[in-house]
Amino acid sequence: MGPVKPSILIVDDERANVNILGAMLGNDYQISVAINGEQALNFVSKNHYLDLILLDVDMPGINGYQVCETLKANPLTKDIPIIFITAHNSEEDEAKGLELGAVDYITKPFRQQIVMVRLKNQLELKRQRDLLTHLSNYDGLTGIQNRNRFNSYLEDEWQRAIRMKTSLSLLLLDIDCFKQFNDNYGHVAGDVCLRKIAQSIAQTLKRSIDMTARYGGEEFACILPDTDHSGAMQLAEQIRQIIIELAIPHEYSLAQPYVTVSIGVAVILPSSKQSPLALIEAADSKLYLAKKAGRNCIKG
Ligand code: GH3
Ligand code: MG
Ligand code: MG
Repeated sequence: MGPVKPSILIVDDERANVNILGAMLGNDYQISVAINGEQALNFVSKNHYLDLILLDVDMPGINGYQVCETLKANPLTKDIPIIFITAHNSEEDEAKGLELGAVDYITKPFRQQIVMVRLKNQLELKRQRDLLTHLSNYDGLTGIQNRNRFNSYLEDEWQRAIRMKTSLSLLLLDIDCFKQFNDNYGHVAGDVCLRKIAQSIAQTLKRSIDMTARYGGEEFACILPDTDHSGAMQLAEQIRQIIIELAIPHEYSLAQPYVTVSIGVAVILPSSKQSPLALIEAADSKLYLAKKAGRNCIKG
């Protein structure tokens, strides 16, 4: 199997147009078709990961401008690039389309090669945007989310917990004597160890709203929305155990002859009088206590 083809939705009520565009693009792209605005919205609501929409303006029922407005108003669909492809060729029409957030505007009758090239350019821009988004949210070494993403997720969940009046838990984990590990087994082995631990932590969290991030060099953080103290302590214990079970030898650790973690647990009922920093500081001081208590343990 080759690489995944970019997915394009063609929205046009005229079969002849759909056929021409479909024939033109079918080899290079994964094509879907909607023959009116309603179908288009319905399709997109189930396929947020579309790479591009080619959108006609004049259609019975919901027209193309309205489709565009609706998609741009929804956080889940607002970033899908839209190219209008329409017989409306006045300056005002084109300006309106672009103001509604379309990335390009092509008038009918269209020239096939021009459509192909403009589409390819927009898909390349989309690919670059997606890559940037990924790089700014994920850690290159471990593949889990990074501190930047951690901060924005914590802020979101903080606000949600205030609205829902639910508690929010945070685990801060730090690998024990990891400097000794690196110094004795080398950085490459250190990196392998970090990857294994990141994956193990991520796999232990089962709820989709839980998140694991690489917080710093050999520190990880878990955000556990709607979780109370005993729930957070249980998860922390599961993680501590699973890392012991990895049985990664560490003869130079002060804790055990294998790799272990210390964990600080904090729980808070978020309020608008405080910021998420309060939760981070609480977990951090518990982590400090766990280190002081001899490592390979949990404080909360
Ligand atoms: P403690 O038990 O008190 O946490 O001691 P520690 O040695 O784990 O803590 P310290 O903060 O002194 O050292 C952290 C070490 O983690 C320093 C560095 O060697 C290692 N480290 C941080 N980031 C990376 C990384 O990306 N790759 C590798 N291989 N090592 C890293
Ligand atoms: Mg550390
Ligand atoms: Mg450490």
